[in-house]
Amino acid sequence: MSKTKCRFCGKQISDLGIVQHERYCLSDPDRYETTKQWFDDNVADDGYAPTTGEYRDAAKKLGLPSVEQLTRQHGSWRGACDFYSHKARPGDLKRPVASRIDEAIAEVEVMLVEARRVSDDYNRGIELLGAPRIGSDGRVYCMLK
Ligand SMILES: [Zn+2]
Repeated sequence: MSKTKCRFCGKQISDLGIVQHERYCLSDPDRYETTKQWFDDNVADDGYAPTTGEYRDAAKKLGLPSVEQLTRQHGSWRGACDFYSHKARPGDLKRPVASRIDEAIAEVEVMLVEARRVSDDYNRGIELLGAPRIGSDGRVYCMLK
């Protein structure tokens, strides 16, 4: 497939994708300026850059690059804030999706082990009072008669 050079970043992009790419290319000076301007206008009172949540809302309304596009391009939200000369708020740094999925799976596995233990107790003739419930610590609780 033939390729065309992006007039902003110079990357070779397939002819099918070039129009879409140039529309969203972060190296487009107009695009850089509008995004930088938004960051400048939305610094919090304590001097930190806007959060990903605030940016996400504005990006949708104003047609700015998405949070995902910025974090992909700059490695992280912190990197994106640095790029526009602002300081990211600590704690607003997106963790990779994979680590959040691993944590969720580990939590479910703990709950399954607990649920199995409760069910084994039940099958040994221990009577349960009401339905088991999941506590705020993720463990399964139930009252015994
Ligand atoms: Zn480009």
